[in-house]
Amino acid sequence: MKLGVIGLGNMGAGMALSAVRAGIDTLGFDPSSKAVEELRAAGVTLVDSIAEMSAQVDVIVLSLPTSDIVESVVLGDDGLLRHARSGQIVLDTSTADPASTARIAEALRGSPLRFVDGPVSGGPKAAHAGSMTMLLGGEAADIETLTPVLDALTGKRVHVGPVGAGHSAKLFNNLLCGINLLAVGEAIRVAQAAGLDIAQILEGVNAGSGRSGVTEVNCPTWILNGAFNSGFTMKLMRKDLRLAAEMIEKSGAATPLSAEALRLWAESAESVSDDEDFNRIVEYVEAKQ
Ligand code: NAD
Repeated sequence: MKLGVIGLGNMGAGMALSAVRAGIDTLGFDPSSKAVEELRAAGVTLVDSIAEMSAQVDVIVLSLPTSDIVESVVLGDDGLLRHARSGQIVLDTSTADPASTARIAEALRGSPLRFVDGPVSGGPKAAHAGSMTMLLGGEAADIETLTPVLDALTGKRVHVGPVGAGHSAKLFNNLLCGINLLAVGEAIRVAQAAGLDIAQILEGVNAGSGRSGVTEVNCPTWILNGAFNSGFTMKLMRKDLRLAAEMIEKSGAATPLSAEALRLWAESAESVSDDEDFNRIVEYVEAKQ
């Protein structure tokens, strides 16, 4: 199997390196990657166009910032569909708009190109380690064909439904993470005001039912030590939460808690810049007062 990775940023570069390490012949395309030297040295073949990549690979992994870019890379004038060869599969690991994914799936119906959505968790560290968690949406047969690539990139994967279901599940995940960061920020402020040791309090919480990914991973790794270097930016998280807000609106479900959390995240853009680490939201309400 020969693999192409389009989008060699914080996540995509790590995925390409993990694929090479697993013995997969890997090509990469990204006109603005900052990891060119590292990728070349590891054995990733960098190409100059989608056409050049498409002519050589069986599977194309996308790791791109937005759905607009994903649509243009797949359906654009010089995109993957135009150059597709029979049996090629696109695995979109971007966090994307499920409505856009549905448009892509519709446009690809009857074409030689197969499509699976597989958004990921774990950040750049897991992308480099080949230990990401992936939520897969697509046909079981296509996911089966992707097995060597999935083995190289993931530590855990869950097939959550048809095309688009992976992207929806990822938005639920990030919505819950976004709400949780705000809630944990409040708990930290209350504990500090009461003169309690935050590390000890969290050790207690993590042994109890209040624990979460934020208390178990984000707090010790990026928040309490002041590192704020997770590699996931405010800009990307705000994009995800805007997409979650659209999904909620379409559903018509009652979501007062999500509404307040999404309002705080959107409002934070006035004072917390897009380049900041997304964990900075824990400080936001405090900084505002
Ligand atoms: P990034 O901005 O670091 O990388 C994106 C890369 O895409 C850039 O290098 C850019 O040059 C490239 N690119 C843009 N347009 C392109 C095009 N038309 N053709 C080829 N390359 C193009 O972003 P990232 O942090 O690597 O995130 C990528 C995706 O993964 C996003 O959808 C993000 O939401 C998702 N994600 C990120 C994280 C994280 O922790 N960083 C975690 C989970 C999911």
